[in-house]
Amino acid sequence: MKVFADLTADEFPLNVPNVEAPVCQVSIELADADLAELVRLPWRHGQLRLDFGPEPILQCSHERGHTGEHVAFAAEGRELTLWVAWAGEHTRIFAAGYCSRESTSGHLCSLPNGHVGRHAMG
Ligand SMILES: [Zn+2]
Ligand SMILES: [Zn+2]
Repeated sequence: MKVFADLTADEFPLNVPNVEAPVCQVSIELADADLAELVRLPWRHGQLRLDFGPEPILQCSHERGHTGEHVAFAAEGRELTLWVAWAGEHTRIFAAGYCSRESTSGHLCSLPNGHVGRHAMG
């Protein structure tokens, strides 16, 4: 686990070989309406190009056992990144940049800017 030896106390590794994943194992299958929303907004005006996503099933990127909403990357274009947060039956789509945390070995946090909890490095 040399790769993650540089992580600080407020960071956790998304994937560690041969170890139970430290990342939250909760996933969501998006409702058709949410999926449609992700495809339609805000790319519909042709001003922004959807480069990546959305996938119908998303896995949370927070740390295993975290409190609060689950959060997963949903879709992005050059100018915009969309995320899905969910708790119970409630799902919301929001736009935010990536968290700017970068570990000393160059790993980037996979959570949105302003997220709660430890940084997800990987
Ligand atoms: Zn979660
Ligand atoms: Zn972060």
